[in-house]
Amino acid sequence: MSTAAFDVVVIGAGAAGLFCAGQAGRRGLKVLLVDHSERIAEKIRISGGGRCNFTNRDLDPRAPQKHFVSENPNFCRSALSRYTSQQFIDLVDRHGIAHHEKHKGQLFCDGPSQQIIDMLLAECAAGGVAHWQPCRVSSLSFDAGRYQVATDRGTVEAPRVVIATGGLSIPQLGASDFGYRIARQFGLGMVAPRPALVPLVFAGEGWAPYAELAGLALPVQIETGAKKQRMAFLEDLLFTHRGLSGPAVLQISSYWQEGTPLAIDFAPGTDVAKALGDAKSRSRKRIANELAGLVPSRLADAWVGTDAALQRPINEAADRALSALADRIARWQITPTGTEGYKKAEVTAGGVDTRELSSQTMESKRQPGLFFIGEVVDVTGWLGGYNFQWAWASAHACATAL
Ligand SMILES: Cc1cc2nc3c(=O)[nH]c(=O)nc-3n(C[C@H](O)[C@H](O)[C@H](O)COP(=O)(O)OP(=O)(O)OC[C@H]3O[C@@H](n4cnc5c(N)ncnc54)[C@H](O)[C@@H]3O)c2cc1C
Repeated sequence: MSTAAFDVVVIGAGAAGLFCAGQAGRRGLKVLLVDHSERIAEKIRISGGGRCNFTNRDLDPRAPQKHFVSENPNFCRSALSRYTSQQFIDLVDRHGIAHHEKHKGQLFCDGPSQQIIDMLLAECAAGGVAHWQPCRVSSLSFDAGRYQVATDRGTVEAPRVVIATGGLSIPQLGASDFGYRIARQFGLGMVAPRPALVPLVFAGEGWAPYAELAGLALPVQIETGAKKQRMAFLEDLLFTHRGLSGPAVLQISSYWQEGTPLAIDFAPGTDVAKALGDAKSRSRKRIANELAGLVPSRLADAWVGTDAALQRPINEAADRALSALADRIARWQITPTGTEGYKKAEVTAGGVDTRELSSQTMESKRQPGLFFIGEVVDVTGWLGGYNFQWAWASAHACATAL
């Protein structure tokens, strides 16, 4: 088989790879885009419940790093401020894709996510990008200033290679550790990958009383970490059979450290101790019934449980018992035993250490011509369109430099 030559080979045709390939092609480069999966951009297709939450308007242009987790939080700032959510919205508008804003600046397509995939493919076509998919890459080597990419369609040569193979989340959709292996092969440091934006689990019998609440959703304030590390979100929480999920829990999971507790306020904005104290002075209803005015009744019943001190009308309750109950509603402390893992994680935190890369171009500082973009890098966004915006922005920074 003869060796084909390109200006750049992009490995991984997900959000970052497709966008980077299209942008580089439109700048006149001869680009090859390779992906081992049968289906194109599966994560975009299933994202946002099938409507692709493609960016977020609340991304703060003065401090874009605020919505991202990384060992080096300022790294993402340059790319995110040079390619803003508004620039991606303009592109979506130019392609005539109707969209709407939901909760907290999140932008979704009105129609199926496939529209975003079609837009990215159209950009690639406009840039004359060659797209090999499915196509397995067996090795990458570097010799005399050029890379040799061995694939099952033959060997390809290029002076520049972009790794856009994402993280480990959802292995059934083609996720692999390819990017991490390439980083190690070329001596780049890594931040240990871990599942993020992931439900948390509580093993053992201690969870049994709460498992009965499976399906219950309610707004909470959730916190983890102490002092400067403290992180809090005001979002919905969902009880599951094995633990906790919902946006509040997915968000906090990116900051949660194993073995540490979470504190959950089930009635944010309400002074529960005062409300129960006031009820005691004017009501003869049972405690569970009074509590059900502050939180959903299933939760109220579970929290009152079988505690003899709480099985009575509120006017007969001891102040100490009411104050302990208020504390458990306003500051429930619980330590997860783990996460649901990569099978359920929306993203992978950690990855290629950003100290190894130029924040302007995404190129490796020690290996010329080797670039890393998107989720493979140690930059993880909040829930709500931030991860796609990182994919677009890092891809744009890279394509501009290529
Ligand atoms: C269920 C779900 C919903 C999500 N919803 C949203 C959302 O609404 N908004 C948001 O911002 N983010 C969302 N995300 C996160 C978002 O999908 C990712 O952060 C984003 O897709 C990362 O883009 P990427 O291009 O870096 O990686 P990916 O999109 O994962 O693409 C990586 C590509 O590399 C290919 N690849 C992997 N290994 C190899 C290999 N060895 N050889 C060749 N190709 C390879 C894969 O097949 C894949 O096509 C969601 C994630 C999930 C799992």
